[in-house]
Amino acid sequence: MNFTKQDLSNIHKFDDDMLKAVIEADNTIDKDLFELADEVRREYYDNKVYLRGLIEYTNYCKNDCYYCGIRCSNKNAKRYRITKDEILDVCKTGYDLGYRTFVLQGGEDSYYTDDMMCDIVSSIREMYEDCAITLSLGERSYESYKAFFDVGANRYLLRHETADNNHYSKLHPDRMSLDNRKKCLYNLKEIGYQVGSGFMVGSPYQTSDNLVSDLRFLQDLQPDMIGIGPFIRHQDTPFRDKENGTMELTLRMIAILRLLFPYSLLPSTTALGTINEGGREAGIKAGANVVMPNLTPIKYRGQYELYDDKIYTGEESAEGRKALEKRLEMIGYRVVTDRGDVNKLK
Ligand code: SF4
Repeated sequence: MNFTKQDLSNIHKFDDDMLKAVIEADNTIDKDLFELADEVRREYYDNKVYLRGLIEYTNYCKNDCYYCGIRCSNKNAKRYRITKDEILDVCKTGYDLGYRTFVLQGGEDSYYTDDMMCDIVSSIREMYEDCAITLSLGERSYESYKAFFDVGANRYLLRHETADNNHYSKLHPDRMSLDNRKKCLYNLKEIGYQVGSGFMVGSPYQTSDNLVSDLRFLQDLQPDMIGIGPFIRHQDTPFRDKENGTMELTLRMIAILRLLFPYSLLPSTTALGTINEGGREAGIKAGANVVMPNLTPIKYRGQYELYDDKIYTGEESAEGRKALEKRLEMIGYRVVTDRGDVNKLK
């Protein structure tokens, strides 16, 4: 099927077959698709790029997702946990560098009880009233999510990874459930969080129909943030021999997401920068508007290895941040010191 730019500008009206055809089209549509996506992101967010300071505070996880380098059965992973004081230290460094969102991300680690998390979140909230606090700690109960929200967390990231039950069961052990993950996402919305979800592109066994299901699930959920990145294999997982996802399809999915969710905050992820040098900049040009430099203390950095060869950009330093600003300026975008809340007002 051939699509003109005019056709693609109506993608929000496409049925499943047409969406699938866009996902499977050859690369001649990408120029039009990326231009349209960029026009839409500029309407909503101008040329601004928002920074999120990522703090990977634990790489312990009770789960065993087949694609993940920190899955519980990977005995080669060197595990670490960061103390509250270390977290507050990196928040200070990040704040001084202009970060106004902190993202606490970790595996599902019950060592950090609800009380501990509430203590950490409320301490950050007390010190940085003007910052957004984003949590990404996996599946927890409604009550836990509510407790974190009540002490000052504003946003929550929980990728659904795939919205198709059959595909989900090929990526996760039986004890994990897509239904529960979806329930968590709706609970988070009900509580009042700005919610982020998302999926891997090119994960093993994924079909174009699965990607269409992902888009339809997101249309139902209406998340504020959508994080996607290419699947990248990790040597210590059952998927060690699987093909990686591609930058091309990831960029196309970013552009489609921008057109279907014009208001959304879309990160150009580290995985995209890992699979291809310049991948993150390409992601911004295809419609993404967020980057998430890593503020995790350097001594732990190499240990949060969800996939092989993860890049370390040095953007947590003042020089690194300037270099990032420059790279984005060169392609026409502007890094801002701002919480970067979702813009649903249009
Ligand atoms: S993907 Fe997340 S939940 Fe699954 S093993 Fe890795 S850190 Fe744990």
